[in-house]
Amino acid sequence: MSLPLIQLFDAVSSTYTYLLRDEASGEAALIDPVDTQAERDLALLEREGLKLRYTLETHTHADHITSAGRLRRLTGATAVAPAGCSIGSADLQVLDGELIGFGKEVIRVINTPGHTAGSASYLWRDNLFTGDALLIMGCGRTDFQGGDAGALYDSVTQRLFTLPDDTRVWPGHDYKGFTMSTIGREKRHNPRLAGKTREQFIELMDKLDLPRPKLMEVAVPANRRLGAPHG
Ligand code: FE
Repeated sequence: MSLPLIQLFDAVSSTYTYLLRDEASGEAALIDPVDTQAERDLALLEREGLKLRYTLETHTHADHITSAGRLRRLTGATAVAPAGCSIGSADLQVLDGELIGFGKEVIRVINTPGHTAGSASYLWRDNLFTGDALLIMGCGRTDFQGGDAGALYDSVTQRLFTLPDDTRVWPGHDYKGFTMSTIGREKRHNPRLAGKTREQFIELMDKLDLPRPKLMEVAVPANRRLGAPHG
């Protein structure tokens, strides 16, 4: 039997891309595909005999460019983006609670603003794709693109941490070699969030003082066009 979920990694931006498949129909979805990895992902689809139905963005990335526009051109896939992300060229602007079906599989949209104003997570079976809202033992920064630490605290504690403890957490990035976690583990051990009040979390995020992402000025406008060239 083939794996229903494949985790792919881009070492330059430390980004995870996820391939989900429906076994019976051979239809697939890619979450957060990376432009420089398009050949790898196209080869994988071909090798596995899969038809790409959807690409899904968790948010407008600042640290890498999406391949969604290119994959759409080459495969006919429908490009999905959260409605709040200003990704005007997406085919489907999805709202909280919306369902995206491929084959017999269903992905549910959960709005998780905070890392950026429009960020969303995607729930498929008992797998949660969190983008940068919740990372393994961390979380995305909240200091640009409409980021808001209070909103992120609410998204994680009221939306994601209310899912069953054994829900698997698949983050948008990892910088330390982690691949997967669970809601229960993050609730208990995530140093940014476990046992922290909203005020403590906001203070902690305010003090991070991180450098601006190197690619930000290029990546954000490019990602609003799904990485496709001008015009
Ligand atoms: Fe991000």
